[in-house]
Amino acid sequence: MFDVLIIGGGVSGMSCALVLGSAQNKPFVSTKKIGIFTHQKSSSLQEALFNNAYGIPPGTLGSELLKQSNLHLVTVYPHITQIPEEKVLKIEGDYPEFKVITNKNSYTTRNLIVGIGSSNTFAIEGLMHYVEPHKKALPEKQRIQLRNTDHKVAEGIYVIGTLAGWRSQLAIAAGSGAAVATDILTLWNDNIPTHAHDSIR
Ligand SMILES: Cc1cc2nc3c(=O)[nH]c(=O)nc-3n(C[C@H](O)[C@H](O)[C@H](O)COP(=O)(O)OP(=O)(O)OC[C@H]3O[C@@H](n4cnc5c(N)ncnc54)[C@H](O)[C@@H]3O)c2cc1C
Repeated sequence: MFDVLIIGGGVSGMSCALVLGSAQNKPFVSTKKIGIFTHQKSSSLQEALFNNAYGIPPGTLGSELLKQSNLHLVTVYPHITQIPEEKVLKIEGDYPEFKVITNKNSYTTRNLIVGIGSSNTFAIEGLMHYVEPHKKALPEKQRIQLRNTDHKVAEGIYVIGTLAGWRSQLAIAAGSGAAVATDILTLWNDNIPTHAHDSIR
């Protein structure tokens, strides 16, 4: 049983996993089981080239970022379970016990974070009733988002990245994933606001 499972190994999902991973020494996190589906085939990063993203050297390929982010997570936060090459097909159940069914396996989790992009090919059974037109994309692109309030879709279900209704910029998607990570940390800290920082001091 996971405490949280992140669906989507692109910008928002990996950013969320890194922030959750970095909080490992906090007492309210140390016992938590965290996982991420690192399926990357349909990431926007596959064809992107970055010259305008904060902290990323100009000329960086999105395809490189996909490789680097997996390596970053497994090297620095190996306690986060990476589940590669599985596509999530269906969600069953309600908080606090969801069943996540992929093309290969099934998993149980208390909380779900969904960051699989805003394409209208979205087809995760069990989440379809949350789908609505994307509010910040051109209508002719037919993008979608999951209905949410400040990233929360329903009890135990959160959405991040472009699927949360944000415009498609790397920094926005990364920030969205990080924001929900701190929401989850705050939840685990009995709703006392918190975040995860390292410091040279
Ligand atoms: C060609 C191009 C150029 C771009 N250039 C720039 C730029 O110059 N500057 C900039 O700031 N932004 C740029 N972007 C935008 C940026 O890449 C996106 O905003 C960002 O990747 C969105 O992050 P996300 O997490 O919402 O989605 P993604 O990064 O697309 O991640 C979604 C992830 O979900 C996975 N997934 C999908 N379905 C499933 C499923 N059923 N189960 C499990 N996993 C699943 C995918 O494989 C993928 O890994 C560009 C995008 C494109 C396409």
